[in-house]
Order: sequence, then structure tokens, then C-alpha cells
Amino acid sequence: MVQTSSLKSVLPAVNKEWTLFLDRDGVINVEKPMDYVRNWEEFQFNPGVLEALRLFAQQFGRILVVTNQRGIGKGYMTEQDLHDIHDKMQEKIQKHGGRIDKIYYAPELDDDGPRRKPNPTMGLEAMKDFPDIDASKSFMIGNTFSDMEFGRNIGAQTIFLPTTRTEPPMPHPLVDFLFPDLLEAAKSFQLTSTQ
Ligand SMILES: [Mg+2]
Repeated sequence: MVQTSSLKSVLPAVNKEWTLFLDRDGVINVEKPMDYVRNWEEFQFNPGVLEALRLFAQQFGRILVVTNQRGIGKGYMTEQDLHDIHDKMQEKIQKHGGRIDKIYYAPELDDDGPRRKPNPTMGLEAMKDFPDIDASKSFMIGNTFSDMEFGRNIGAQTIFLPTTRTEPPMPHPLVDFLFPDLLEAAKSFQLTSTQ
């Protein structure tokens, strides 16, 4: 049983000045163990995610996805396959009142590829695309320590979702907040922002 816990006692209230960075696999959709989601037929939203994204759309000014997609580098899928998945994902999210403003992905094969998380490159690209992003008013939500490190590297606060990995002992130097899933995190933002 995951207990919501954190180094800080409560999430800060957010508003449209805040930016949310989201990992994709294991956060938005069901992660395929040791494999890649190669087409829309294999893409499955995690429970509660569409509702979570609807809430986030009301809370955050900018919502960005940052995702490592090595399946492209490995030749399991093409960039066009990924675009098709993302187009359909976006359509579904928008139909439910949610919003993702831009999706950044790293197709590189190499573990040390400069665009791959935990390197901050995709975050820096986002800050270039949207110069009003304030790193001190941003969150990164992910299901791996690589995501948490990415968050640290761009100066964001971090939220870990133990959807596919073991819950880390808290307090943890890379993790500011812990929630069982994306919807629980979204509900918690709503509560604090309306206080
Ligand atoms: Mg992930």
C-alpha cells in the first residue's frame, strides 16, 4: 500500500504560471515490460489518467511530455509510428478535457545519448520553445529515478509514481513527493490550489 509522503509536507499551490513535465510510459500509459509500445493498438492509458490530465489542464499553464523512445533507435518502430501514437493519444486526451502542449522524445540508442533523460536536454529545449517557463515553478512526474534525476537537472520539483517500480524509501534525495498514481497526484494539486 503506497502512502502519500514527502520531504515537504504539502504540495505548493499551483497556477497557470506553473509547468508540468510528464514522463509517458508507466505514467500516462501502461508500460510494456522490457519492450516498447509500437503502435496505437498496443497503447493503453493507465487507469484515471484522462481524468488526471483534465485536472492538470485547469491547474498548469504548460503541460509537456518528455519521453525516451529508444524503440526508434533500435529499429522496432519508426518516428512516424510514434507520431501516429501521439496524435491518437492527444485526440483522446483533448476529448476528455485535457491538454498536452508539446511532446519531446529522445529516439537515441546510446545510453549516453545527450537527449535521453536523465540529461536535461529535452527540458532545455522546452524552455527555449516556451521562454516563460520558470524552472522553480515546475514539476516532473515519472516512474523511474532517471525521471527524478531529469527533474533535478532542470530545477523542477519531483513526483515519483511507483506504478512499475518499488516505492523508494522516503525521504529520498531525488524524490520530493510520492503518489500511488497520476490521478492521486492531480487530486492533491487541486486540493492545495483551492485552499
Ligand atoms: Mg516511464
